[in-house]
Amino acid sequence: MENITLTINGQCVTVKSGATVLEAAQAAGIYIPTLCHSPDLKPYGGCRVCVVEIESMRGLPTSCTTPAVAGMKVHTETEAVKKVRHTAVELLIADHPSDCLTCSKDQQCELQKVAAYLGIRETRLPKKAPSFSVDTSNPFFDLDRNKCILCARCTRTCSEITCIGAIDMANRGYSMKVATFGDGLLFDSICQSCGECVAHCPVGALAPKQSLPPTREVVSTCAYCGVGCSLILGVRDDKIVSVRGNPDGPANRGKLCVKGRYGIADFVHSPERLTSPLIKKNGRFEKATWEEAIELIAGKFSSYKPEELAVISSSRASNEDNYIAQKFARAVLHTNNVDNCARV
Ligand code: SF4
Ligand code: SF4
Ligand code: SF4
Repeated sequence: MENITLTINGQCVTVKSGATVLEAAQAAGIYIPTLCHSPDLKPYGGCRVCVVEIESMRGLPTSCTTPAVAGMKVHTETEAVKKVRHTAVELLIADHPSDCLTCSKDQQCELQKVAAYLGIRETRLPKKAPSFSVDTSNPFFDLDRNKCILCARCTRTCSEITCIGAIDMANRGYSMKVATFGDGLLFDSICQSCGECVAHCPVGALAPKQSLPPTREVVSTCAYCGVGCSLILGVRDDKIVSVRGNPDGPANRGKLCVKGRYGIADFVHSPERLTSPLIKKNGRFEKATWEEAIELIAGKFSSYKPEELAVISSSRASNEDNYIAQKFARAVLHTNNVDNCARV
C-alpha cells in the first residue's frame, strides 16, 4: 500500500493510504479527543468529539470517519472545532450523574479525561435526573444506563467482535438506550457474559460487579482451554483483583471469553483448591510430597506392559503440555495409546 503525506497543524505526516485522519494524527502523536472510537471497531462518528477542520472542505468532519488524502491540510484545535467539541461534551455531562468519586471507573473514565482536556469545569446546561433502573441481572457486570453516553461501543463490540448481537441501541432522543432484544434483562438475553462490551465501555455504564484497582499487573495465560489466551492479571495484596485480555496476545489480541475474564480469581483463591498431592492410605486421602507421589505412580506404571497403558491428554492444557504428554507416552511408557479429550 502506498504512502501519502498530509499536514496536521502544520506538521507533515506520512501514513499508509487508507488511514483515517484520526489515525494519521495518532501516528504523529497529535491528540484528538474521542469517545465513540475504538481501534478494534469500525469507524462510527457518533460522538462528534473528534471533529477537525480541513482546508477546502465544508463543515467540521469527524476525523475517525474521514480518510486521509495526500496534500490534505488538517487543523485539530481551531476555535470552531473547540466550540463543537465543548458543546458535545457539555450535552453528555448534562445527561450524566456526578457521582464520579464512587464510580468504579473513576480516573479511568474517558469522559472525565476528555472533559478535563477541553477545560470543562462547570456545566451551563441543566442536569437530567437519573431515569433508568440499573440492570444487575448479569452475574459478572452491571449495566447502568444513567451513566451511558450512547457511544454504541458496547453494541458494536457485541456484533463486530463477539458476533453475538445480544444488545443494540433502541429508541430515539431522551429514550435512547442500550437494550436487549425485547428490552428484557441481560440475564434473560442471548448474552454470553464475555464482558467484551464492558472492556470497551469508555465510562462506568458497563462495569464489573467486583473491581478494585490493582497495585501491579502480571502477564499470564488462561488455563481453561487450549486457545491459550494471554491475560493481564491485576494483583493487589497477592490476590487477583482484575483480569483483562493482553492486546499483545497472539491467540486473542486482547479478547477473552467469560471463563478467562471472570472465572480466574475464584478458582485461584478457592480454599477447596488442591495445592499438594494426595495419596489414599487406609481409605483416606492424605497429603504427600511430590517426590512420594511421583515415586508411587512411577512404580505403578512399571508394573504394566506398554500395550496395557494409555495416556489421555487434555484439550484444556496448552500445546506444550500436550506435546510433553505424548512424548512421555511414546518415549517413556513405550506406548502409542495416546489420545485427548477434545471429542469428549
Ligand atoms: S457480555 Fe459479550 S455477549 Fe454479552 S452483551 Fe457484552 S459483548 Fe455481548
Ligand atoms: S453502555 Fe458504555 S459502551 Fe455502551 S453505549 Fe453506553 S457508554 Fe457506550
Ligand atoms: S479466555 Fe476463554 S477462549 Fe481464551 S483460553 Fe480462556 S477459556 Fe479459552
